[in-house]
Amino acid sequence: MKADVVIIGGGVIGASIARELSRYSLNIILIEKEDDVAMGTSKGNSGIIHAGYNADFKTLKGRLNIKSNPMFDKLCQDLKVRYKRIGSLVIGFTEEDLGKLRELKKNGEKNGLKNLEIIAGDKLFRLEPNLNPQTKYALYAPSAGIISPYKFTIALADNAVINGVKVLLETEAKDIRTEKRQVCGVVTNRGLIETRVIINAAGLYADEIAKTSGDSFKIIPLKGEYQLFDKQWRNLVNHILFPIPTKLSKGILVTPTVHDNLLIGPNSYRVKEKGDLSTTRAGIKEVYEGARKLIPHLPHQDLINSFAGLRADIEGRDDFIIEASKKIRGFINVAGIESPGLSSAPAIAEMVSGILKEVVKEISPRLELDYKDDFIEALPEQPKFADYLDKTDEWQEIVEKDADYGEIICRCEKVSKGEMLRAIHQPLPARSLDAIKRRIRAGMGRCQGGFCSPKVLKILSEELKISPLSITKKGKSSEILKTKTKDMIKEAGVKFKNEVRV
Ligand SMILES: Cc1cc2nc3c(=O)[nH]c(=O)nc-3n(C[C@H](O)[C@H](O)[C@H](O)COP(=O)(O)OP(=O)(O)OC[C@H]3O[C@@H](n4cnc5c(N)ncnc54)[C@H](O)[C@@H]3O)c2cc1C
Repeated sequence: MKADVVIIGGGVIGASIARELSRYSLNIILIEKEDDVAMGTSKGNSGIIHAGYNADFKTLKGRLNIKSNPMFDKLCQDLKVRYKRIGSLVIGFTEEDLGKLRELKKNGEKNGLKNLEIIAGDKLFRLEPNLNPQTKYALYAPSAGIISPYKFTIALADNAVINGVKVLLETEAKDIRTEKRQVCGVVTNRGLIETRVIINAAGLYADEIAKTSGDSFKIIPLKGEYQLFDKQWRNLVNHILFPIPTKLSKGILVTPTVHDNLLIGPNSYRVKEKGDLSTTRAGIKEVYEGARKLIPHLPHQDLINSFAGLRADIEGRDDFIIEASKKIRGFINVAGIESPGLSSAPAIAEMVSGILKEVVKEISPRLELDYKDDFIEALPEQPKFADYLDKTDEWQEIVEKDADYGEIICRCEKVSKGEMLRAIHQPLPARSLDAIKRRIRAGMGRCQGGFCSPKVLKILSEELKISPLSITKKGKSSEILKTKTKDMIKEAGVKFKNEVRV
């Protein structure tokens, strides 16, 4: 197999780069070791598009966050991804906190943010009536927003595929091939892909990929745990609420999600394993107590899920690494993309496109990257039952054209079978229960898939024409069914006196 460019990693960064580069006449392959995109850090984070007052403008983090934030409105409109610019508040309780809020404001203004404001008293409690009554001050940043990070990543990948990018799932980069200090291929578990350019967007594993080119840095996973509450608490807070940030993190926040749940977290601590996504009793307690400092009355009885994500923290460095390798030609590192990586993704992709142009010139001075005339900027609008709850006549018209939209498969999240069939056949198709969940939310609601999972499994099996026993939760080794009940009984040699026929 051959490609002009191979991107390693299907997180929000790899997918953003793939979409951006698909504007050019290039043969691009994105490889992802898991069975879907958005399976790494891009699925386990806060989903905040930060305003940009935290990081210093001298850092890439600061510059790229500020540049990206305004890009989200159009991008999300084009990709049909829900995005809400609800604004954020950093909460202060003391005079010392006020000093820190002023510092943050000053940094934000240096970064170019004009609409930051320190607010107090009635104004603050009008914005957030359920805040801890001891709150004194807050830094208000109206340009912060919320997004579903995995839906955003999938939409970017879908759009890249429509524009010609090949996405190879369950394809893991194992090594790279070079000749006279020039990249000439990627060795994967499925064979060699010949290429002159590799973009390393492998998230937590970017240090291991970089090592194969001779570049050296070390990534240490920094865990963050979360808790998610049922939708009935959607109005408990109106903005993203942060505590005063520390050196290690922005602290335990309380925020509505873009799908109307309530989210609290993350804590922050180092772990040894890059695959350690466990949640812990101590973590749950720490997150809950941390969040209660901002909102004292949290509905613990309506907690529906907890999860964790891992930050790709580069040892001894507090910034992204986005640069061409100095060791070999044709190798670009996009590494250490911790927060605000999601918020910075569109500008990171543009920056990588600029670096690629330089790299291409180095490889072949006469080669230019040509824009395609037929780049498709937007994904089509697709009807979702949940958006039509107060427009039943319009939904009825959709059902009359296609009866699958009349069959509801997930009651909690109000998802129809028509939407599920679409997810199975979209440009980057869903093949597992979790892939369905991330695309259309079936299984994300209060019952967490208790009711809809068997239905989803059955439809997947029928539509993909594979045995239900082969349907997985999230790729290899996560099959849901072990055996047919009848076979199990036969194997166990159980004999029933009066066989009941159903
Ligand atoms: C707790 C937490 C909270 C956060 N909150 C926010 C926030 O609110 N706002 C914000 O802007 N940012 C936030 N971030 C940061 C943000 O999530 C990351 O910057 C972003 O998701 C990084 O994306 P990525 O594509 O670099 O990495 P990933 O999403 O991890 O993608 C890398 C991909 O590479 C694949 N891969 C790895 N090795 C190989 C290989 N050898 N071959 C093929 N594929 C491979 C992986 O499977 C993975 O899918 C948060 C992060 C964490 C952990």
